[in-house]
Amino acid sequence: MATPDRFLPELTGSVSQGAAGNPTVAMIEAAYAHHGLHWRYVNMEVAPEDLRDAVRGLRAVGFRGFNCSLPHKVTVIEHLDGLGESAAVMGAVNCVVRRDGRLIGENTDGKGFLESLQALVDPRGRSVVLFGAGGAARAIAVELALAGAGQITVVNRSVTRGGELVTLLRDRVGTASALVEWRGDHVVPGDADIVINATSIGLYDADARLPVEPASLRPGMVVADVIGNPPRTRFIRDAEARGCRVLDGLGMLVNQGAVAIRFWTGIDPDTGIMRRALEQALGLTGEG
Ligand code: NDP
Repeated sequence: MATPDRFLPELTGSVSQGAAGNPTVAMIEAAYAHHGLHWRYVNMEVAPEDLRDAVRGLRAVGFRGFNCSLPHKVTVIEHLDGLGESAAVMGAVNCVVRRDGRLIGENTDGKGFLESLQALVDPRGRSVVLFGAGGAARAIAVELALAGAGQITVVNRSVTRGGELVTLLRDRVGTASALVEWRGDHVVPGDADIVINATSIGLYDADARLPVEPASLRPGMVVADVIGNPPRTRFIRDAEARGCRVLDGLGMLVNQGAVAIRFWTGIDPDTGIMRRALEQALGLTGEG
């Protein structure tokens, strides 16, 4: 890693529409400060029609990388020079990394989740039940499949969207996968090892209920939720009460940021510092 001039920071950031309120900047800049890196992370509002010019501009001023959030995760691909393995399978990019002058698209949504999960269980050969088939679910499912998960059951309300994900897992990664149409309370099979909420149910609503039969959650299962705000969702609380080991969405968000920092700077950041900065930015101090 080249030593940056003290008057000329290395630049990273985020492009999205609806950038206001994105707390990622607090977490990433806390890590840069903690590790004494003269790097900056800039949160940028970019409309879809301006994406091409924005990427050209970031390339021209030498950005080392940038996160890419809604609505640009798919459309950004045509402006890049290449894709990492999981981003290519998913067809979605949320993190761009400059490597040897080329902009390479990666996807850290699923990688952040996988890192959180691996602290509790190795998904290799495990049976997974995944609620949802949207962007977060796709990222998680592909990363789990690439990490050797034995079987992934996708439970989704829309059969079309759920079916697309199952086909992707089977055809592109060769993982055993099945679709269950979500109607009423889902009963989680007793042989499931890992159960994940990757829907938006629970976002900003600590009492929102995921349609899952709580009695089917058993001790020994690892239960995860992608919802980061609030981190202690009803699903997480129910799972804990049933004796499951749990992972909240804040951990996924922190690890996602840590993967990005590692890609951009080469250093392994302190995730405790990042989580505290994120909790503070979200006004969650003392929770989660
Ligand atoms: P999408 O809109 O792409 O997908 C939403 C999913 O939720 C779909 O599968 C949808 O089902 C399902 N869903 C929504 N409402 C209901 C409902 N009432 N009943 C049943 N299913 C429902 O969203 P994303 O995948 O991009 O994001 C999902 C969540 O993940 C967001 O809340 C986001 O905050 C979180 N997230 C967290 C990250 C983290 O790092 N912690 C990273 C990325 C996302 P259907 O297909 O039937 O419509």
